[in-house]
Amino acid sequence: MLKAWFAIPLWQRVVAALLLGVVLGLFWGPEAESIKWIGDFFIKAIKMLVVPLIFFSLVSGVAAIGDLRKLGAVGGRAILLFVVTGQISVWLGLALGTGAVNLGLFPSREALGTPEVATPEPNETTPVDMILSIVPDSPVQVMADVAVLPLIVFSLLLGIGILMAKEDGLPVQKVFDSGAIIMQKVTMIVMELTPFGVFALMAWVSGTLGVDALKALSWLVLLNYTGCLLIILVMYSAMIKFLAKLPVVDFFRGIVDAIAVSYSTASSNATLPVTLRCAERNLGVRNSVAAFVISLGATINMNGTAMYLGLATLFGAQIFGVDLSWGQYFLISILATLGAIGAAGIPGAGLIMMALVFGAVGVPLETIAFVAGVDRIMDMMRTTTNVSGDAAVATTVASMTGDIDREEMISADDV
Ligand code: ASP
Repeated sequence: MLKAWFAIPLWQRVVAALLLGVVLGLFWGPEAESIKWIGDFFIKAIKMLVVPLIFFSLVSGVAAIGDLRKLGAVGGRAILLFVVTGQISVWLGLALGTGAVNLGLFPSREALGTPEVATPEPNETTPVDMILSIVPDSPVQVMADVAVLPLIVFSLLLGIGILMAKEDGLPVQKVFDSGAIIMQKVTMIVMELTPFGVFALMAWVSGTLGVDALKALSWLVLLNYTGCLLIILVMYSAMIKFLAKLPVVDFFRGIVDAIAVSYSTASSNATLPVTLRCAERNLGVRNSVAAFVISLGATINMNGTAMYLGLATLFGAQIFGVDLSWGQYFLISILATLGAIGAAGIPGAGLIMMALVFGAVGVPLETIAFVAGVDRIMDMMRTTTNVSGDAAVATTVASMTGDIDREEMISADDV
């Protein structure tokens, strides 16, 4: 029985749970709230992962740069491109979300009759407070408070410290590398709760809200795909054409395998070997640049995830009736970029990072439950966007530093 359960891929179990939950809720009505606690259990488990996931994957990602000098030519350019494209992506998500709210595609709290849930207090901070708050008083305190921004600062510094310590840093680096792998396994365990959490939450959602909620979710999925396609077809194409000065069609032809694997696995990490192979063999990127940029990118370059975090925050704010100020838009843009950097390249990581963005601007974490059932289908597209971005940045940096064999890229007919 158990064997048969695990033999079904997780995402299929989640989709089945989603459908069953919806059906149960429609029949059961508001009474379905009695099983909501199962979903709350799932959300708590997700929240538990945020601190250790960021801590281990970020430190090990920075330390993977290997040599501080590398941060210069290749790393500096790559990181600049990661951050700039990440910012553009979040703002695209925010723009799509705002458009959807204005066009009435995301129903308001009143229209949807969203049930009362505790709204976290938004952080009312001045810019000076914000600057001060990114420096941790104590790393332990920061972890206990799940204060992600100072945690990221501390993790980055720790990673740089490991690099500066050279040989002496290796044992600690190993600990973080292994910690990052272990946290991915722990995440896998928690993800096994998804079908149950999704089932209970969808029953609650459809039982209390009805068909309107489902319509809102279809719009969210559609906008997620629109945003991702815009990033890939417009932003990456422009990067390849104008910054790398290479033929766009050849670039996309060269990464077809990576696109297929990322879409079906929803994991940048699982796709990493394929992305590397595509970059080296089909795009002619020199091995050292490809290995460095693409493995770093698999952890920190997630434009699809960044866009989605912006979009989903507006979705949650709308359905739970939370007003967002311009200041909070900026906070979202920073946190979504950091969340995308901190997210591990594994299925569902973007969902976990929502807890970070939502908490900071006062959007109820129940939104996570609301979207969890359709997350996989959006995750597949986010991951394709993330992985194509890694290849695009590697190709662009390699082209800038002269580490690319243009002939090989253009003549790669055998992909
Ligand atoms: N699954 C995505 C990735 O591996 C991360 C996410 O959930 O957005 O790139």
